Amino acid sequence: MQRLFLSPPHMSGKELEYIGKVFESNYIAPLGEYVNRFEESVKNYTSTPHALALSSATAGLHLALRVHGIGQDDFVLASSFTFIGSVNAILYLGAKPVFIDSDESWNLSPKLLLEAIETLPKKPKALILTHLYGSSAKLDEIVEICRENGVILIEDAAESLGATFDGKHTGTFGDMGVYSFNGNKILTTSGGGMLVGKNQELIEKAKFLSTQAKEPFLHYEHKEFGYNYRMSNVLAAIGVAQMEVIEQRVARKREVFAFYEEQFKDIEEISFMPEIASSRANRWLSAIVFEKTPTQKIIQALEVVNAESRPLWKPMHMQPLFSDDKVYEDGTSQKLFEKGICLPSPTSCSLDELQRVVEAVKKECL
Ligand SMILES: *Cc1c(COP(=O)(O)O)cnc(C)c1O
Repeated sequence: MQRLFLSPPHMSGKELEYIGKVFESNYIAPLGEYVNRFEESVKNYTSTPHALALSSATAGLHLALRVHGIGQDDFVLASSFTFIGSVNAILYLGAKPVFIDSDESWNLSPKLLLEAIETLPKKPKALILTHLYGSSAKLDEIVEICRENGVILIEDAAESLGATFDGKHTGTFGDMGVYSFNGNKILTTSGGGMLVGKNQELIEKAKFLSTQAKEPFLHYEHKEFGYNYRMSNVLAAIGVAQMEVIEQRVARKREVFAFYEEQFKDIEEISFMPEIASSRANRWLSAIVFEKTPTQKIIQALEVVNAESRPLWKPMHMQPLFSDDKVYEDGTSQKLFEKGICLPSPTSCSLDELQRVVEAVKKECL
């Protein structure tokens, strides 16, 4: 039995051809035609004016906070129910994370967001908003709250390339957004990220910082410190090929999700991550909650049929790393963490192959 992974890389078939072209041109060094092409493809697909290809989404969040002037002891609000990559950059800058719990959408609660803004001892500078598992957060309400309160909105769309709200791509609502092309995401360059935004000057500044902050002289001149965060031309070639199939991948992820939903529709204790009104989720991972059956039992049963599964993200406010940080929570994400798992959500196998996941789950909870 071949192992069913949560979200294995799925190449389109064009990647090697494009990598071959990179080798022919000898632009193995960072930067070259494919970096530009990759940026163009993300700009076109998401209808965003500016994009910067980077070594990771984490790097993108770091640059986004830095170019917006976030620094020592500033408060940065963040979704608590997320992966650590959303918030590590806050720590890189010596700023202070303030975690906000989820609501019934599983994503950030606008109500708790407002409560945080109104009760913190100091005005928070920015919000890092995650669109979890490729499902849009309540962007209409959240954008409005940020605008009214002068909070910079940075969207962590690492998991949500292809997901939309009101027909517009997640990642393009805020001041800046990031997409990830890490190995487990809906598309992958084996590792990589893209920072997008509307403000050309700020994206230019991020580009400058991502290549060691070299002043425009032939010799090396530096007035401030930067990072080595740019994406290589070789990896961008993979990205260009992957972007050609993004809509197929979204469609397939949604089919996998719909398949599980149909198969489990008669099991009362099971529910799935919602897709909020006016949105299209990319269903990167099929996330499922069991009201009664302990998730440990399900995970073990899936392991027996050689299928990978994992608990939902452990909320940041429950992590030892953040035990001293502020949180606005009402138990929502803690409960999801305790009762939920991600099921194998590959785009590269037939739905028949997922039948053994369905059977293993059914055996545990019927
Ligand atoms: C994967 C992920 C990241 C980090 O992306 P990298 O490209 O691996 O740095 C950040 N946030 C979320 C929500 C993620 O899932």
